Amino acid sequence: MTHQFLENETAKKVNAGHDYCPFIPVFGSPPVMFEKGKGTELWDVTGKRYLDFLSGIAVVSLGHANPVVAQAISDQANTLLHVSNFFANTTATKAAVQINELMSDAGAGSGQVFFCNSGAEANEAAIKLARKFGGRGRHAIISAFGSFHGRTLGALALTGQPAKHEIFQPMPDGFRYCEFGDIASLEALIDPTVAAVMLETIQGEGGVIQADPQYTQAVQALCKERGLLLIIDEVQTGFCRTGKWFGFEHAGISPDAVTFAKGMGNGMPVGALWARRDIASVFEPGDHGSTYSGTALATAAVLAVISEMKRLDAAGLAVKQGARLTQGLSKLSKIDHVRGSGLLLGAQLVAGVDTKDVVPVLLEMGLIVNGVNATTIRLAPPLTVSDAEIDEAIEMIASVLS
Ligand code: PLP
Repeated sequence: MTHQFLENETAKKVNAGHDYCPFIPVFGSPPVMFEKGKGTELWDVTGKRYLDFLSGIAVVSLGHANPVVAQAISDQANTLLHVSNFFANTTATKAAVQINELMSDAGAGSGQVFFCNSGAEANEAAIKLARKFGGRGRHAIISAFGSFHGRTLGALALTGQPAKHEIFQPMPDGFRYCEFGDIASLEALIDPTVAAVMLETIQGEGGVIQADPQYTQAVQALCKERGLLLIIDEVQTGFCRTGKWFGFEHAGISPDAVTFAKGMGNGMPVGALWARRDIASVFEPGDHGSTYSGTALATAAVLAVISEMKRLDAAGLAVKQGARLTQGLSKLSKIDHVRGSGLLLGAQLVAGVDTKDVVPVLLEMGLIVNGVNATTIRLAPPLTVSDAEIDEAIEMIASVLS
């Protein structure tokens, strides 16, 4: 299999003349090869400029090549990268303390952090925490249809998209799925084998579907009544993306455990499981781990992200710029409505318009968005996106849709 970009002469040169695809083909054929970025802008190998309204799927929330994050990574790389989990390091310790403070300020109480490298790994840690909390025979986890929790086997089992499980059967046991937004469907699945419920407050990959706060509050009440853990996957919604530090703050709940990744590193691969102290304490030394849990390098990026997000009021920026983008898109006749929160938005196209016909044309024009399904364009630009960039993107979308 050759990738389209590798058939392009310029790209061939960049790839030292290779005419075959060097990657295992799990990602399909990439249409563009990028070389550099700055803020909301990206440039491909031919020098063409793009506006990135996807941020590497809600990752680069402070923009590409953010100077503060870059400096922190560089300084840390010149000081200390890694020491193993036989020892502590000052950077990871500071980052964990700050995450606990943010969670406490968000009303989730006092807790503890386990660092890892991705969203899927954070969810694997959450699955193991739920199983240890439940004990033998009480290991099942209920998640929602349409959810997305990652690609490792456990996180995939947690993902409520049975079609994605098929080729990997048999899947791990102990996962079941409720209708997102339907409390009766959740209640009907609870039996003595269930340990936890795990939800996103906005299903990002599922089409930017926001949970009604009444629903999430009912879920929390039900979990409390039945003694189940409530775990919220904030991998896509966390770190100011939705206009608050965490998506659960919109939902009016205080979860027992939360998973993070994506925006917390601004592109540095890092994730985390946070759990309230009484829940975290079910884990004992040896129950979980990772060589790269809490490396000084990754957590230096986390510290820089938190400090920059505070300085810029990134949550406030998401609200303000999200409103501008929503307003501009809502005026377009081929857009039925815009949903989501802050700068995690889904523009629902009217009947008869398919994202497959829109998204590639926008890319050709220099705007990166994502057709999250056949009828929804997902927009998640950096939270630092400017008014002018938003207006430019709206103009491009308007011209394609007309
Ligand atoms: N959870 C949610 C809500 C996600 O959106 C994603 C990725 O899109 C994941 C988990 C998996 O994260 P990662 O790709 O870092 O493993």
